[in-house]
Amino acid sequence: MNAVHLQKALAFIASGLVEKEKLLKESPNRYPYSKNLQRGINMFLAACLEMGRLGENTFKYADESSFLTQYISKPLCEWFDDWDQAALVQYEINLQPFYAYGPFAYHRGKNNVYITTEECVEFLSTQENNIIEGTDERALYEKIIQLSQDDYCKVRKYIIQNPIITIEDRRAFLLEYADNANAKEAFNLAYELFEGTYTTCAACGWTMTEGIYGYSCVSEHCLEHMPAIIDEMKIDASMKPVYRLKKGIMRYFAQPGKLEMSIAKFCEKKNLEYSLWPQKDRFDIEIRFNDGEIWEIDAKAYRNPISLCAKIKNDGGFPAGNYKFGYYVVPTEYTANKSNYTSVVNKVLTQQPNVKCVTLAAIKRKINQKVGEING
Ligand SMILES: [Zn+2]
Repeated sequence: MNAVHLQKALAFIASGLVEKEKLLKESPNRYPYSKNLQRGINMFLAACLEMGRLGENTFKYADESSFLTQYISKPLCEWFDDWDQAALVQYEINLQPFYAYGPFAYHRGKNNVYITTEECVEFLSTQENNIIEGTDERALYEKIIQLSQDDYCKVRKYIIQNPIITIEDRRAFLLEYADNANAKEAFNLAYELFEGTYTTCAACGWTMTEGIYGYSCVSEHCLEHMPAIIDEMKIDASMKPVYRLKKGIMRYFAQPGKLEMSIAKFCEKKNLEYSLWPQKDRFDIEIRFNDGEIWEIDAKAYRNPISLCAKIKNDGGFPAGNYKFGYYVVPTEYTANKSNYTSVVNKVLTQQPNVKCVTLAAIKRKINQKVGEING
């Protein structure tokens, strides 16, 4: 056993949960069996057997449903409650990047249905390529990067601004890009046909649907902002199908995209010279102030600061460039219950003193301040 083994076990569990959710969506009447989940469970329990005080009792969690009942709705720090104190110290479990994650899934309804949390998907997105390859958002990024700079910006903006489109919208897009195979492929990677009943989510603009277990949307956090849903808000797409962004695209492409658009809008209001995605996906926004100073911004919508730290490490830090300051900008509301969010991230940025993690509210203040200085 070592910490890497444990990290892998948890990555397989996270990817298995996501896979189960996908399988359940494809065939609602079949039990969604995931090999990755079982593999992760076996790896985790093997570590428990070695490090824990459970002994033979470990085996009672070997089947999927007992394991899920016992562990999956608990924050990760509680998964080690049965471990020997000495083992926890030896492997510095509390310092491992997985330790600070919340529950990977929550339980819904009487049957064994678990819905993955945003933290679970975030954890997964920070793992090795072989575990996350094949995700929808990864495929989309790989496709749009092949577009020209101009088409890249147009297609990216379209996807961010249109979580749900009509068949006519789709036809118009495909007609406009009739001669551009990459753009058409990107479009088809981003959207899926949807024929269910939905209401437009007040929080994110995606399809909020009602299942036997209640309402659900792109993230469990959408429900926090949900108004009381009345019949008039329900749209039946079975008669008139729509296309919607795939869930992964909505979560990891369109959500940060909204942050990018909101910074762009602010720059516009302040009459600043800026560009969105100036070098495709190298930076999100570049601001060029009147005194020649350049700021680069990378918008990130990770709920857990540890996920963002892992992402920054995987990327090898903020990309190099001819800028005075670089900023990772996160949604202000993500820091509401995590007052140390930005300081956690800034700890991994000490090698790049001109790069900081700030909230959307803070970057606006900084821009205002800079404009004030220039105007004297
Ligand atoms: Zn939503």
